Amino acid sequence: MTDISTASELARDSFDSTPWDLEDDALHEECGIFGTIACKSAASIVALGLHALQHRGQEACGIISFDGDEFLAHRGIGHVSQVFNNQDIFAHLPGRMASGHVRYSTTGGAGLRNVQPLYAELAAGGFSIAHNGNISNAMTLKRDLVQKGSIFQSTSDTEVIIHLVATSRYPTLLDRFVDALRLIEGAYSLICMTAEGMIACRDPLGIRPLVMGRIGDAIFFSSETVGLDVVGAEFIREVEPGELIQVDHNGKISSHRPFGTPPARPCIFEHVYFSRPDSVMGGQSVYEVRKAIGKELAKEAPAPADLVIPVPDSGVPAAIGYAQESGIPFELGIIRSHYVGRTFIQPSDGARHADVKRKHNANRALIEGKRIVLIDDSIVRGTTSLKIVQMMRDAGASEVHMRIASPPTEHSCFYGVDTPERSKLLAARMDLAAMADFIQADSLAFVSIDGLYRAVGEEKRKPKCPQFCDACFSGDYPTRLTDLIEAGKAEGVKQPA
Ligand code: AMP
Repeated sequence: MTDISTASELARDSFDSTPWDLEDDALHEECGIFGTIACKSAASIVALGLHALQHRGQEACGIISFDGDEFLAHRGIGHVSQVFNNQDIFAHLPGRMASGHVRYSTTGGAGLRNVQPLYAELAAGGFSIAHNGNISNAMTLKRDLVQKGSIFQSTSDTEVIIHLVATSRYPTLLDRFVDALRLIEGAYSLICMTAEGMIACRDPLGIRPLVMGRIGDAIFFSSETVGLDVVGAEFIREVEPGELIQVDHNGKISSHRPFGTPPARPCIFEHVYFSRPDSVMGGQSVYEVRKAIGKELAKEAPAPADLVIPVPDSGVPAAIGYAQESGIPFELGIIRSHYVGRTFIQPSDGARHADVKRKHNANRALIEGKRIVLIDDSIVRGTTSLKIVQMMRDAGASEVHMRIASPPTEHSCFYGVDTPERSKLLAARMDLAAMADFIQADSLAFVSIDGLYRAVGEEKRKPKCPQFCDACFSGDYPTRLTDLIEAGKAEGVKQPA
């Protein structure tokens, strides 16, 4: 399902949709964002950039462009290549400024009305917003806004920012925007557009990534450097945590620091799984970090095996590192079909289960009679590991040892990486021996949190002031989780005072 209309028509069209369920806690999103300004054929370049970020969200996508007069939108459910499947679409998205979004949502939030970028016509003019992250006090703010008369059109947490901007009493759009950001908690990398130009920013802790690049006068923002690579832009630098960058229609840049410079806490899971391995994040090659995690894992948890086998594709770099460190040969013992999407990023459990089977097949001739060590980046619910271990046994493996290139995922993420509620996380339910038993492996080990920190170039994790957000492993959340507290679900959750 796709539609073409001006952004304001889109905003009106979705007006009669069901209101956001204030009790619904399914607000998390995994997303990628891309934008450009002072760029010829901006919308088609944004589509290219979004294509490179497709792994960050496969359910829906959209682009809004600005032709100097009007904002125009095209959004739909599906991959970038499905939603932007012919050149005529770009004829309806003219202009030298555009931004786009790829999105995955958890159950309940998958309708077209939630597909970003969102757009609104405010008293101060047109305003579009593309958001990667999750606002941890969105429901609380929304409840307050609704009581004061705001009418929401989507169930997305991002819309809260639009209403806060709309109701702020500051005179300029930039001041209203900063005023809105001061009220929100959680993780946000944002690309916004107004008639004056583009505003890109990261939350004060820089939990979610955002980088900036250029080709001549054209400026680009992308969730990951791979987006810049694909459009041929030169990497300038990361948008700093807490930085707000304004770019006008001539490509002139100004930087603002409305939140001071608190110590950054970028998400460590971007290195473990989420980013593409050909991206550079925080100055580190994601691929090299993953290999280094594999090396740490081999030192910490050796396995008596004949072959190192990666779970494709997420386990490949760590398996190379494990093989290099241990001296055990690396082999492709599982072959992946390239015609099935990411296993995890499927909204329903049923779709996820069927996909694991369609996606992977054992390389029987290689496996038969061998002791193998399987490497994957993480265990969440345990679905993938259980099936892959079984697949290796069915293919005749004599021993199956499982090694995981991250610490146990014991806690939910409230910052835009979708993890299920805590009760569904295998590591929250079981100890190591029980987990090994559950996935039916001969042995199971995870890299330690300090091993992971060493792999990202730190000596060790600083317990009082961790260099990353590692809440999914440590339970140490760097921001307040107001909605969770309000819902009475924050028992035992560590948060800043
Ligand atoms: P599970 O089968 O639930 O244990 O999920 C583990 C698999 O999902 C691993 O192979 C990971 O590569 C992948 N994965 C882990 N975390 C995420 C996430 N937040 N989003 C998408 N995929 C993930």
